Amino acid sequence: MNIRSFGVIGAGQMGGGIAQVAAAAGGLNIILVDVSQEMLDKGKKVIAGNLEKMVAKGKMAADEKEAVLNRIVTTTDMNRLAEADFVVEAATEREDLKFQIFRNIDAICRPEIILASNTSSIPIGRIAAQTKRPDKIIGMHFMNPVPVMKLVEIIRGIATSDETYNTTKTLTESFQKTPVEANDFPGFILNRILIPMINEAIFTLYHGVGSVEGIDAAMKLGANQPMGPLELADLIGLDTILAIMETLFAGFKDSKYRPCPLLRKYVEAGWLGRKTGKGFYQY
Ligand code: NAD
Repeated sequence: MNIRSFGVIGAGQMGGGIAQVAAAAGGLNIILVDVSQEMLDKGKKVIAGNLEKMVAKGKMAADEKEAVLNRIVTTTDMNRLAEADFVVEAATEREDLKFQIFRNIDAICRPEIILASNTSSIPIGRIAAQTKRPDKIIGMHFMNPVPVMKLVEIIRGIATSDETYNTTKTLTESFQKTPVEANDFPGFILNRILIPMINEAIFTLYHGVGSVEGIDAAMKLGANQPMGPLELADLIGLDTILAIMETLFAGFKDSKYRPCPLLRKYVEAGWLGRKTGKGFYQY
């Protein structure tokens, strides 16, 4: 399959990162779509800043930076995805919202193209069932920050075809990323393990076992983690952490996946971590 035009839905921290990597490492033309013009402008600014840092470090030529930026067009009009040869959805982690987006893009995009989701936890089979092309729906789960992290989990829904899987794997490799295949269970591999660990760190804080700094120091110095779990929670976004815990809880009906009440309290207060300037730490 000849992929030249690459659609990305959602210009937040993940969508912006995916657009950057697909335009820089992949050399693709990007159509970056968001409902918010403000997020599109912010997303493009972050990409420009990231590329500027690469130029400053000698990892990219200045004219290459301009070429990459020129390959990224931003729009609030989803219909522009009619031109795309492959689409990745990276909008807010809410099942109803993703279902609506997939119903829309299934109608807009050419029937032969693959529609991937960067969802952290929502089963791909459920998303695929919203469309008339379940064989062409796949999970393409990038890590945060996308330009830095090597892993992309590729999740096959029950109906995903081998052709869809192989195309997505080849595309992932062309972005200089390492694909790992995962089966379609809530949270897949990484978030099935990582997010309950972060939730447990929040319970540890909630029960007064340790302070924010103490919990992060214990996990960095005692478990050799490069970032403490609460620091990492702020980076991921507490709304995303809560949404993933709720998906795990709904999917497995096992009380070990219940979200910590303190996490819910922070999200209700709008303390979502780095993206809002306050989470477990102040930014
Ligand atoms: P974010 O809040 O930074 O960005 C979400 C973006 O989606 C916003 O810009 C919002 O305006 C946009 N959006 C909302 N509704 C939309 C619609 N109908 N059409 C187009 N755009 C819409 O969130 P994020 O952290 O970038 O997460 C995006 C997705 O990536 C989620 O599914 C999340 O689970 C997944 N993910 C997140 C991480 C992480 O560490 N944050 C890691 C891997 C995967």
